[in-house]
Amino acid sequence: MLKRLISKLKKSPTAESSVEVIPRKSHGISRTQISENALKVLYRLQKSGFEAHLVGGGVRDLLLGQEPKDFDIATDAKPEQVHKLFRNSRLIGRRFRLVHVVFGRDVIEVATFRGSHDNAQGKQESKQNESGMLLRDNVYGSIDEDAIRRDFTINALYYNTKDFSVRSYEGGIQDIYNASIRMIGDPETRYREDPVRMLRAVRFAGKLGFDIDKKTDAPIRQLAPLLQDIPAARLFEEALKLFMAGHAHSTFELLQTRDLFKQLFPQTQAAIDNDSFYRDMVIQALKNSDLRISQGKSLTPAFLLSVFLWPCMLERAKQLQNEIPAGPAMQQAAQEVISKQQQSTSIPKRFVFPMRDIWDLQHRLVKRLPKSIDSIYGHERFRAAYDFILLREEVGEDLDGTGQWWTVYQKDNPREYVPRPRKRYNKRGGNRSGDRKPRRRPES
Ligand code: ATP
Ligand code: MG
Repeated sequence: MLKRLISKLKKSPTAESSVEVIPRKSHGISRTQISENALKVLYRLQKSGFEAHLVGGGVRDLLLGQEPKDFDIATDAKPEQVHKLFRNSRLIGRRFRLVHVVFGRDVIEVATFRGSHDNAQGKQESKQNESGMLLRDNVYGSIDEDAIRRDFTINALYYNTKDFSVRSYEGGIQDIYNASIRMIGDPETRYREDPVRMLRAVRFAGKLGFDIDKKTDAPIRQLAPLLQDIPAARLFEEALKLFMAGHAHSTFELLQTRDLFKQLFPQTQAAIDNDSFYRDMVIQALKNSDLRISQGKSLTPAFLLSVFLWPCMLERAKQLQNEIPAGPAMQQAAQEVISKQQQSTSIPKRFVFPMRDIWDLQHRLVKRLPKSIDSIYGHERFRAAYDFILLREEVGEDLDGTGQWWTVYQKDNPREYVPRPRKRYNKRGGNRSGDRKPRRRPES
């Protein structure tokens, strides 16, 4: 289908220009593949007199016959106008203002067409730092201008529910056919504007199995340190997308060859460079994660993160054990390693607690003290800690048959697994289940 379409485009006289309009009959996208919520947003915008297109990854994935992860919309309505149209929406972002239209857990991202920075208005509404990074990009424009502000050609595709055509800019559809990730514009300038685009190039290469075009790839290694200027919380969001999408292993290898992984997890990089055992362990964990996702099993980011930082924690604990006992040494090492990690890719508390539980449970699982068996088995993190033991053994660590022992134990004790309720108190003294008195909103 795509092949036929491309050969048609190649012959068409418009194929030379930077935009190609592919009519409904020549592409395989149908409305039924688009989420109802995205359609609702598209139609409401159009009924209110605005232009509205499905854009980016949603169109790319549909053309590739894959199920899109989410649907993004581009419109000529300003963020405030979109916000006014949808009661269930919120304005987000300062650097890049957007509207999220929220339908329960489903969020449709609506972005206003971005415009050129070169005119007077553009200069006022955009801001760059001295290395060329865009600190703000809220210059609005037309769909044609918007397309060239997008990152890769395969993401500059727009699907229009008015006539069901696809607009492809800068040869996006050909690049889909050629399985090529190509930056729009000058790659170095575009990476300097937003260094996260380097991670995105690798992510799409890993996810789609595409090659990164030579010119797009060339500057990455040298520019990789620019990621240090990106807020650690944004890098965490990107890290989740890199490692939780079912292609973690291939993505990891692509990151390695471009020196990008060490920007995200510098301590892990040092540990795996130092000891091939830990490299094997990280790779095995990534492969296992991909397998779990392909089998439709759940996966917590805390598991992979606990693998990434495990060798760093052990190393530091070993040093500390010269001065303090093993237990406190591990606690302190965990604390230090995690807080150092927060400087590059910050890990939210909701993942830090489970990571530390997985680590704490390791020696308890190995020791198997008879009086602790019940509480270990009943621990809400038992399963992840047990998987961690299996991983360590899988890569060759001798844990005196611990994995096998717990495998048999679970078979012999197939009781319903009920996690222990956790009590963790917040700063105000209330626990998470909210048994505090409701606070009154201050009168305004
Ligand atoms: P997926 O949702 O499958 O991860 P995507 O391509 O849809 O991939 P999003 O992060 O959802 O990625 O972004 C939606 C679209 O916004 C992209 O397809 C691209 O056109 C544009 N975009 C996102 N991030 C950037 C960026 N950093 N620079 C330029 N354009 C971007
Ligand atoms: Mg998307």
